[in-house]
Amino acid sequence: MSSSQKDTRLKILIVEDESITALDISVELTQIGYEVCGMEDTASGAIAAVLENKPDLILMDIRLGDGGDGVEAAKQILRDHDLPIVFLTAHSDGQTLSRALDVSPYGYLVKPFRTQDLRVTIELAISKHSADKAKEQEKSQEALTDPLTGLGNRRCFDETLTREWLRSEREIQPMALIMVDIDHFKAFNDTYGHARGDECLHAVAEALKSCCNRPGDLVCRWGGEEFAVILTRTDLSGANKVGLALIEAVEALGITHSGSSTAPHVTISAGAASTAMGVESQNLLLKQADEALYKAKKSGRNRLILADSTGLD
Ligand SMILES: [Mg+2]
Repeated sequence: MSSSQKDTRLKILIVEDESITALDISVELTQIGYEVCGMEDTASGAIAAVLENKPDLILMDIRLGDGGDGVEAAKQILRDHDLPIVFLTAHSDGQTLSRALDVSPYGYLVKPFRTQDLRVTIELAISKHSADKAKEQEKSQEALTDPLTGLGNRRCFDETLTREWLRSEREIQPMALIMVDIDHFKAFNDTYGHARGDECLHAVAEALKSCCNRPGDLVCRWGGEEFAVILTRTDLSGANKVGLALIEAVEALGITHSGSSTAPHVTISAGAASTAMGVESQNLLLKQADEALYKAKKSGRNRLILADSTGLD
């Protein structure tokens, strides 16, 4: 093992106003294999230490020096940081404990405690906290996904567009946006029913996705039969290439559409715009792509229209 190897031990902050107790705990933690990244005896010291030392877990005495309240300190810390806090208390007063567990539900220890209990309580707190975090992540992923197509939903689109817009400004790189609409989709639903309509949306989504493989490219379901494609580090000629590929990919599905006056199969129309044209806001980019899509619809569908810069002022 080289000396430069990163210390992977979990970091624990001890907040305890009785210095002998704090020292005892510190020795025990080190023996178990944790790193003690700080010892504090006041609420304000604890808050500062979290910022500075970024612990993985805090052992928080409920009654602190200067009459400080460990539960309040925990509440304040958890406003800005997401980590498990295990409370330490000298007496198991039920009301205080339930107030503490409301703030951080990762357990408590009644002093004095055995090393074995210290270890088990910390292990449980760490694993429960990481399970909670994973669950939360899964939930937020669900909130950003369109259940029918598995693509990002409108909210995902909005968040990504803002993030990529800021990134493209920072990196002085162009980005492009393609708006896509399935041609005569209402007629498709009317002819084949909504179940087939859903299958069609799913198949089109897959086809669009297959054309956007670069990291940073994102296809979202904008709503109804409309999709939006965000292309990072892409100018208008790049968007042109991708847009044409999208149209080809959907045609290649060969989904029969007898209700279409454009083609005997399902087709899409698309409009593309790029920031390389000097577009000044993300809303304007969206508007330009949308107007280009409108023109594609007007001029016969099953085609891509590029926004041009002549309309800019
Ligand atoms: Mg105390």
